[in-house]
Amino acid sequence: MKYVVGVDLGGTKINAGVVDEYGNILKKSSAPTSKTGNRTEILDKIETLIKELNSEYNIDGIGIGSPGFIDSEKGEVLTVSGNVVGWSGTKIKYELEKRFDFPVQVENDANAAAICEGWLGSAKNFNSFVMITLGTGLGGGIILEKKLIRGSHFQGTELGHAILYPNGVKCSCGQNGCVERYVSGTAVEYFYYEKSGKKLTGKEIFSSYYDDIYAKEVIDKFAMDLGYFLVSIKNILDPEAIVIGGGVILSKDIWWSNMIEHYHSFVNDDPGIEILPAKYLNDSGIIGAAKAILNKINI
Ligand SMILES: [Zn+2]
Repeated sequence: MKYVVGVDLGGTKINAGVVDEYGNILKKSSAPTSKTGNRTEILDKIETLIKELNSEYNIDGIGIGSPGFIDSEKGEVLTVSGNVVGWSGTKIKYELEKRFDFPVQVENDANAAAICEGWLGSAKNFNSFVMITLGTGLGGGIILEKKLIRGSHFQGTELGHAILYPNGVKCSCGQNGCVERYVSGTAVEYFYYEKSGKKLTGKEIFSSYYDDIYAKEVIDKFAMDLGYFLVSIKNILDPEAIVIGGGVILSKDIWWSNMIEHYHSFVNDDPGIEILPAKYLNDSGIIGAAKAILNKINI
């Protein structure tokens, strides 16, 4: 039996876990993400977590899921817009292979979530599917014929930065009107504040759907915009399934049927694409990153 460590690097937390060949997480550990902009601090924290986990299990490799455009061949962060300060340009694979004797594989975080869902989750019976992760932003991963699509320059499948409304809200990526400015936890907070003048968290807004007219308007628009976006995905890729995960999925009972209705009313001809919630939420990054390195060392 092989054991690997999967690391999920997020804007606020680094989560790591020992994962076996079947995808079971045997032990987890976490640390807050350094906000100083010093990438060595983040690498040091990852090193500490891996050492802690390796002391109990003899591991065979390390998989890392990181935000940003990731050159997965070199294991480098090309650019990252947003929440991990100072992380652009980090040679993750090089730095960690200097510190450990294990092979290291680095993937974009939404790709790691897609790998997890395709391996063990809602998409395990599909060869071709699109993964959408809805959290602070909107992440995307695409698996076609069981192959993860990364793009010719490792900048592909950034679904959150497809443009939904030309000349729309400014995005951290430099464009205007990106999908994630309309369909994400941050977007819900932004539009709720615009309407009500009140700053609430996404969670608070979703939970006040039935009592607060502004919350209802914002979430109904969110569901409609997501419905529009699903139509584009259908027309570009015609996958077998679209799997939607990320923290926002916890409130899906409020908006899911609305989103599906919008999709069916906007689409030209639905070929029967399955639209499904993800099976894994918090652990998908760890499991997907682990699978990325398991695929390498099992060859
Ligand atoms: Zn953007």
